[in-house]
Amino acid sequence: MTKRRVYVDNSATTPVHPQVLEEMLPFFNENFGNPSSVHSFGRQAKKAMDKARERVAVALGAKTEEIFFTGSGTEADNWAVKGVALANKDKGNHIITTKIEHHALLHTCEYLEKHGFEVTYLDVDEYGLISLKQLEEAIKDSTILISIMFANNEIGTIQPIGEAARIAKEKEIYFHTDSVQAMGNVKIDVKELGVDLLSISGHKIMGPKGIGVLYIRKGVRLDNLIHGGAQERRRRPGTENVAAVVGMGKAAQLATENLEQHIRDMTSLRDKLINGIYERIPHVKLNGHPTERLANNVNFSFEFIEGEALLLSLDMVGIAASSGSACTSGSLDPSHVLMAIGLSHEIAHGSLRLSLGEINTDEDVEYILEQLPPIVERLRSLSPLFKQCEGGKVSV
Ligand SMILES: *Cc1c(COP(=O)(O)O)cnc(C)c1O
Repeated sequence: MTKRRVYVDNSATTPVHPQVLEEMLPFFNENFGNPSSVHSFGRQAKKAMDKARERVAVALGAKTEEIFFTGSGTEADNWAVKGVALANKDKGNHIITTKIEHHALLHTCEYLEKHGFEVTYLDVDEYGLISLKQLEEAIKDSTILISIMFANNEIGTIQPIGEAARIAKEKEIYFHTDSVQAMGNVKIDVKELGVDLLSISGHKIMGPKGIGVLYIRKGVRLDNLIHGGAQERRRRPGTENVAAVVGMGKAAQLATENLEQHIRDMTSLRDKLINGIYERIPHVKLNGHPTERLANNVNFSFEFIEGEALLLSLDMVGIAASSGSACTSGSLDPSHVLMAIGLSHEIAHGSLRLSLGEINTDEDVEYILEQLPPIVERLRSLSPLFKQCEGGKVSV
């Protein structure tokens, strides 16, 4: 009997969609031209790039000339923040972001702090939501950029991005949003939202790894991060990864075309998992917002358990999940996101993220609900704290 394998770590990465792969393949060999070349090989590659850019623009409600391909979501985030900071230092040196951003954003801000910029990291409430009032209060005359993630990669909380962008616009401050997790799970229209800059990544939406997009509203002043040739209208030099660009275009198209159905499917699987875990396992807590959350995100804390031990046990029965985010696992520090929503170290360490995707089925959810409770029970039976609790001192 082959072992069952259930992948529920879609917020870490997704497989490449078969239709995406099919469109990418010819660009590794048959159509290998450099898009900057004038001959037919080059023109063919250029044409494919144009088509991909058009698809991404349509997916985001942007103009094609506002779409710039980068080497990752991380690079798009770096470019937005460093680019605006450097190009606008004559206006001020203050940036506002949140405590729960991805490290692509947080570590970029920390770097800028070492170079004379001042950064305000907004708190979030117990559900992971920012306060718009606190955002308004944090604005100073020297504020040049506000960067708030659309949806959190660990707990799935969705921020009121349209409202936050409106506050920024009133004060003539640039607004960036890391939409890597929101893309494909939330409707995104850059004009409706009123954002100036927005990042997405290929491999989180069934596209390839190593490709991202930065939407730059026409007229936004930002410096280049990379210097070199004339690619991406002189703003992101380096010979283009044509196959990945083609894949990004197709992935963005697929992610938006079927968005409503996808959200319905994911929400149904998500709620089945959430309710099933609550019904079957005592002493658990759902992290993130009950309703303002990504359709594909489930994040629970299990009292009296180490998240890492849980992950390993799940892996033994073929279930691939994550504790916190892939980047923080392997380190002993509890996730900065779980800290920001006020969890204690112990509870944060017992957290498990199950992130769903198009590849998941009802059977996957049933398998998880069958496997998880006995694993939790076994791990708890090894915990001295749990025995105390069962003896009467219940803390949840
Ligand atoms: C994955 C992720 C990124 C980084 O994207 P890469 O393409 O992997 O560099 C940035 N922000 C968020 C919220 C993410 O989930």
